[in-house]
Amino acid sequence: MTTKTPDDTRQLPPENVRLEEDGVHIEWPDEHEGFHPYRYLRSECPCAHCVEEMTGRRMVFLNDIEPDVFALDWIQIGNYAISFLFSDAHDTGIYTFQRLKEMCQCDIHDKNSAGTEPSN
Ligand SMILES: [Zn+2]
Ligand SMILES: [Zn+2]
Repeated sequence: MTTKTPDDTRQLPPENVRLEEDGVHIEWPDEHEGFHPYRYLRSECPCAHCVEEMTGRRMVFLNDIEPDVFALDWIQIGNYAISFLFSDAHDTGIYTFQRLKEMCQCDIHDKNSAGTEPSN
């Protein structure tokens, strides 16, 4: 039985963010290492160029992104988010800590892999 901490809307900032060959690795204070492939991360960009502000409709999809896109740099925004500079010169996306955790693609959280549902 694992002890789960209740969801906290005030996420703590990552302890470390590493831009590696396969994607972004984020070390969270809860010891979890998040993983985000660059192309996926870029395709989930929440900025006004990628998502229509009025409707929330996404205008940029995975297939619109160059396959070999990667992140050149990152900065922390305030105490709640990270912004990435992508190799296609796109740097307007603000990824909140909470959102990054929700879209985590590590072995544990990758929802595309056929894993067993954790029982609540
Ligand atoms: Zn964007
Ligand atoms: Zn994860």
